[in-house]
Amino acid sequence: MNKLEIIPLGGIGEFGMNCMGIRYGDEMIVVDAGMGFPEETPYGVDISIPNFDFLEAYRSDLTALILTHGHEDHIGALSYILKKFNLPVYGSHFTLALAEKRLDEHRMLDQVLLHRVKANDIIEIGSFKIEFIHASHSLIECFSLAITTPLGTIIHTGDYKIDDTPVIGKPYDLKTLAKYGDAGVLALLGDSTNATVEGRTPSERAVIPAFEEIFSQTEGRIIVASFSSSLHRLQVIFNIAHEFGRKVCVLGRSMMKNVEIADEQGLLNIPYNSLVGLGESRSLEDDQIVYMVTGSQGETRAALWNMATGTYKGLGIEKGDTVILSARIIPGNEKAISRLIGHLYKHGANIIEEKRRLVHVSGHASQEDIKILTETARPKYLIPIHGEYRMLFRHKEYVKNHIAGYTDENVILIENGDILEFDEFGARIAAHNNLEKSFIDEESLAEIEYDVIRERKKLAYGGAISLVVTIDKKTREIIGEPQISYQGVANIDFANGFTNEAGQMIIEAIAAMKKEEIADQKGFQEKLRIHLKRFVQKEIGTKPVIVTTVVEI
Ligand SMILES: [Zn+2]
Repeated sequence: MNKLEIIPLGGIGEFGMNCMGIRYGDEMIVVDAGMGFPEETPYGVDISIPNFDFLEAYRSDLTALILTHGHEDHIGALSYILKKFNLPVYGSHFTLALAEKRLDEHRMLDQVLLHRVKANDIIEIGSFKIEFIHASHSLIECFSLAITTPLGTIIHTGDYKIDDTPVIGKPYDLKTLAKYGDAGVLALLGDSTNATVEGRTPSERAVIPAFEEIFSQTEGRIIVASFSSSLHRLQVIFNIAHEFGRKVCVLGRSMMKNVEIADEQGLLNIPYNSLVGLGESRSLEDDQIVYMVTGSQGETRAALWNMATGTYKGLGIEKGDTVILSARIIPGNEKAISRLIGHLYKHGANIIEEKRRLVHVSGHASQEDIKILTETARPKYLIPIHGEYRMLFRHKEYVKNHIAGYTDENVILIENGDILEFDEFGARIAAHNNLEKSFIDEESLAEIEYDVIRERKKLAYGGAISLVVTIDKKTREIIGEPQISYQGVANIDFANGFTNEAGQMIIEAIAAMKKEEIADQKGFQEKLRIHLKRFVQKEIGTKPVIVTTVVEI
């Protein structure tokens, strides 16, 4: 019988970049293609994506891309994988509406086949039979996947929490999951994002009392910042604003677009006449308006940052405003958010954070949710996915300690690049590949080669030295002095004639070379580079990038 392989390309041991290959025999599907936001970004790179070149070896096996939901860390790299492998894409109506937005940015909307599916639809792709199971999360129209293969069924949870009372849509569909549990599940790939958190994750409705209280006590303008994709939260604000006689103005490109898409698809229930534009909002009294804005993470291009530091289209933060930060701090954004809060205070705003009031709930399963899900699916093997290693580890420990039948043998921790293999005898990590991330230039949306990042790093640490040497074409002798210039190089003591010494060293090195060596321009350039590199290291102990140019006249 063929083997079944689980091949994670991203999202394991890190936040974001979720992407998983699942292969049976010579057929392979990919689940999600997310982007990541590297924490260490000193080299002008804000976005990373999985290394899709790795899939080249499987080109003829690839059959489809399945999307669990529309968050950026699950669909953000869609265009980049589809540029390399034009696969048909399956996802919910709402997920694919968000996906279309991304494809449109890359002008590839008309080149991609999008299949819209609903909860409990079952599709067959070669040996794979996939049922889409409705999952509750902070976004809407999300799926867990039941992927049945000749070797057994894999449940991929996507992102989820067990929300019994979501604001929009139904609770998590445990009934369908139980059907698979009863029939036997080979492996469960489970979201670990909140595996360190005890208890149950509160329902999306849990924020309502705090918001009602704030609205009832506030006389000034209310500004709510949240993730643009938190549709449940948006619905809560629409409802409460209506209840307290306030109209809602949505600001920030991504949030406006998401509201538009969700409204078009009938997923948001916007009370009659409550959505107003920026112009109309200005004519309302302070106690008649709520602004729903982007920028809860301190992003400097978002609406809230602009309002806090000056104006957003003429609208600024004023004394008496109440700003509610209805989002969690994504690790790495602490400083940016702290700066944002400083600006808001400076302008006299009152700030309400999730630390002080229940104005945000997580979209991910806490330990008790994980227990409910695992006991319903009763998988033979459990594989923690989605999260930093600490979270995957705690997911494993929690399940081992709190659910009967799980041990070190059947809770398997994997890494990006591993090939986890199943056959009739069991499961094992059969191989590991080192996967370098790919990086994206945010301006051009183009991929940046890893070598470019490495070069930027070298420039950042060592600076650059440029050497220009002019050579007589006939005599192969140097004309004039070597020209040496520096950019961002530390420790150079110009007073001690470093430049002269370096120049003298180059002249001597050239004098010692044969005419043929000098005639070979590429080789000559490289030799000069090595001479200068050694000299710089010996004299000042740094490793700048050295660029040599030879001009022949
Ligand atoms: Zn998500």
